[in-house]
Amino acid sequence: MEETRTVSAQWELSTYKFRIEGGGLQLMLRGMKEGRFKGVRCHKCGFVYLPAPFYCRKCYIKIHEPVDVDDHGTIMSYTVVMSDIRGNPMEEPQISLMVKLDGCDSWIMGTLKGKDWRDVAIGQRVKIKWAEQRTGTLQDMECFVPAED
Ligand SMILES: [Zn+2]
Repeated sequence: MEETRTVSAQWELSTYKFRIEGGGLQLMLRGMKEGRFKGVRCHKCGFVYLPAPFYCRKCYIKIHEPVDVDDHGTIMSYTVVMSDIRGNPMEEPQISLMVKLDGCDSWIMGTLKGKDWRDVAIGQRVKIKWAEQRTGTLQDMECFVPAED
């Protein structure tokens, strides 16, 4: 088992921007509306992305082979947020995860509910809790919850 280390730090997060290329995001959102994930595999190296970029970041070639990605996965990294951006303590600590879903090589981010933050560890299994009313947006993925598989 890997060692878990705790690092104290202060991060200034006044803005946060990220970019997901259109085609891979649209494919992922269409799948999410149906309660499943669609990623794209590189036909050269086999790496599976979710959401998919236009090109493989290892091979630098265009990729377009859709593949199913499971909604169960493994915690690869996590952090526990104890205070809001202004430093005020949160009512309930928020557990932010990086998860490697089964059948996928890239990681996705989400929050974990239904588990005390003191009991979270790298390598634990989690699954997506889908929103009951799905609309084809990122909000269709409500959160991660512990999985017993
Ligand atoms: Zn590749």
